[in-house]
Amino acid sequence: MTVKPLIILALGLLPDPAGAQTAPAEVEVGQSLPAWSEGELDIHHINTGRGEASFLVFPDGTNLLVDASGKTVEKPPFSLPTRPDASRPPGEWVARYVRHVLPPSRRTIDYALLSHFHGDHMGAIVEDSPPAGEGDYRLSGITEIAEHLPIGKIIDRGWPDYAYPKPLKSRTVTNYRQFVEWQTKNRGLEVERFEPGRADQIQLLRRPDAYPQFEVRNLMANGIVWTGLGSETRALFPPIESLSPGDYPIENKLSIAVRVTYGKFDYFTGGDLSAAGDETLSSADAWKNVETPAAQASGPVDAMKANHHGSWDANSAAFLGILRPRVIVVTSRAEGHPAVNAYRRMTSQATWPGPRDVFVTNVSPATFRTTYGIEDAASTQGHVVIRVAPGGASYRVFVLDDADEERRVKAAFGPYVSN
Ligand SMILES: [Zn+2]
Repeated sequence: MTVKPLIILALGLLPDPAGAQTAPAEVEVGQSLPAWSEGELDIHHINTGRGEASFLVFPDGTNLLVDASGKTVEKPPFSLPTRPDASRPPGEWVARYVRHVLPPSRRTIDYALLSHFHGDHMGAIVEDSPPAGEGDYRLSGITEIAEHLPIGKIIDRGWPDYAYPKPLKSRTVTNYRQFVEWQTKNRGLEVERFEPGRADQIQLLRRPDAYPQFEVRNLMANGIVWTGLGSETRALFPPIESLSPGDYPIENKLSIAVRVTYGKFDYFTGGDLSAAGDETLSSADAWKNVETPAAQASGPVDAMKANHHGSWDANSAAFLGILRPRVIVVTSRAEGHPAVNAYRRMTSQATWPGPRDVFVTNVSPATFRTTYGIEDAASTQGHVVIRVAPGGASYRVFVLDDADEERRVKAAFGPYVSN
């Protein structure tokens, strides 16, 4: 089948192009997305069907991998099929995507950020996870990606002791620590603990002086949130010593959140942060709502990754009403993503008035039948790429075909004006 190319003259759709510094490149539906160019900020939400992985290319070419997708332990809700297909593990698909995006001269991941220690974000180690080529650890997710591409620095929420709120001893984390130790000794990997409040832990490495309007702000991790003043933080959780182990914050609520700013453009990503823990959340458990403080620290954004794959317990009305995103990307990986209630909150004018487009990387047949209105989403299958124009005044969204590695543009949206 031949795909008829449709030339989209993006500039013609821009209501007020005065803020844009350069005319956007032409993008043809049915063709590959033109490569990133200096000055652009690209945010790729890579769909493997098996977890979450985003890849950001900053205006000077510095890059950041946020989470690593990876094999998950099979339990309901069931994972979706691997994309493009099951011939390779998800981590390898992510590595191949990243290698395709990076210019041949720069095939290194500068920063890898692990939002939290769950298999769908870092790669679960299961019975049949293969051994590394060298090093005493096994491959899945982040460890698999490192087998294909060198990583400069990993930032996670647990280094160096991995002991909050209690020692982390799962097979997956134990394997990850062996990987970190080996890579540090033998490959020059650097590892740091994520520090909430800072705006200089993740920075432009090549031409920082050329882009003073660019910033990655560390908003939250381990229940410590930026106050908005300097790099000050405050604690959301009661002292751990005052809690019984059964009441410790669960892993999702310890997720790392960051805000990426480029001129007027802002983007929020917060792993699997959630509002509720269960339906009986009482006022005494109010500290378990980590979403609203994360949104307050961020302030309104243009675009966001939905928390927790659009699950029922995340993306509360309060959270969304503060962020008020024009573009929401739901990185679904299982049946029930996005959940009917979460999707309604994302789309309802009662949550906040105004237009918004919701892009979903995957929707299972079961979810199509139960998440009412999902057919009106801007997309329901494919990688979602946000491309911010030089200077940050406007951005576009492209949906790429995830059926193969041609990654042809299925649809193009925008330009949107950054606010
Ligand atoms: Zn997750």
